[in-house]
Amino acid sequence: MKSLVERRPEGLYCPVGNFYIDPWRPVERAVITHAHADHARSGHQHYLAHVDAAEILKTRLGSTISLQTLAYDEVIDLGGVKLSLHPAGHVLGSSQIKIVHHGQTWVVSGDYRIEADSSCQAFEPLRCDVFITESTFALPIYRWEPQSVVIEQISAWWQANAAKGICSVLYTYSLGKAQRLAMALPEGPVWVHPAVDAINACYRNAGRKVPPSACWRGEMKPPAGSLLLAPPAIADSSAISRLVGYEDASVSGWMRLRGIRRRRALDRGFVISDHADWPGLLWAIRESGAQKIFVTHGQVDVLVRYLCEQGLDAAPLQAVGWGEDA
Ligand SMILES: [Zn+2]
Ligand SMILES: [Zn+2]
Repeated sequence: MKSLVERRPEGLYCPVGNFYIDPWRPVERAVITHAHADHARSGHQHYLAHVDAAEILKTRLGSTISLQTLAYDEVIDLGGVKLSLHPAGHVLGSSQIKIVHHGQTWVVSGDYRIEADSSCQAFEPLRCDVFITESTFALPIYRWEPQSVVIEQISAWWQANAAKGICSVLYTYSLGKAQRLAMALPEGPVWVHPAVDAINACYRNAGRKVPPSACWRGEMKPPAGSLLLAPPAIADSSAISRLVGYEDASVSGWMRLRGIRRRRALDRGFVISDHADWPGLLWAIRESGAQKIFVTHGQVDVLVRYLCEQGLDAAPLQAVGWGEDA
């Protein structure tokens, strides 16, 4: 079977179509699965991505980038291969990339999440011959509770803090997780860091109903009882330390690990991820019906070994430049 996708120093490459997928070095043509920084880098000559990712990409990479957009399921011809984008359920505009050539179908998953919510289009399992899957949380300990259960926990924590007359600070990735939380949490006074505010605007412009929030600049003091959504890098900043009374918490798949919660000295940790958990990864792989599975960034060896034990043909496809977001 001829390789439709292979690894090159610049990133994953489709030799027939002459394009790269989420390359980590500058290339002529980059197909972008989603706008997280480790997947959408600056410096490429031409970008191709889902239409809902367009404003976020331009916000992050500059308004002058050369960007072609596609809707989901729209098929284009790139150098003789048929290429289409399909929902990955990870963040707004996140896509699995399907490549068809001479009756062979390959799918590159990008980052994906199985449980659906209203913040982006739900993951769609795809049938293919070769499935290239991520493996960020590919360990059997990673099993997510339904998002609604965790949202209840976060709401109760926020309410308890409000009753004590203090603020609640949630550290969350500014693209994807922050909007997922803002849309799922009950109404209340929500403040957001400017980085979150900018992405909220992109979501609203793409038709997603992100509730109104106040933009927090460091010198302001959100009133007691407010919830503040801010990126994790803010945790040790002087702006945060100037908040008079607050409790803080992180929201991440990594919060499943007690050691990480302790090391970060947080008051609380809540487990919501933008990625598939262990059963989710196995489900997506099974649904693909693929005869060959390549595993990229994350727990590559664990997942490859497990799939091989199940009688599947799996192998690592190391993608060194990915994996900083979760
Ligand atoms: Zn991502
Ligand atoms: Zn990633």
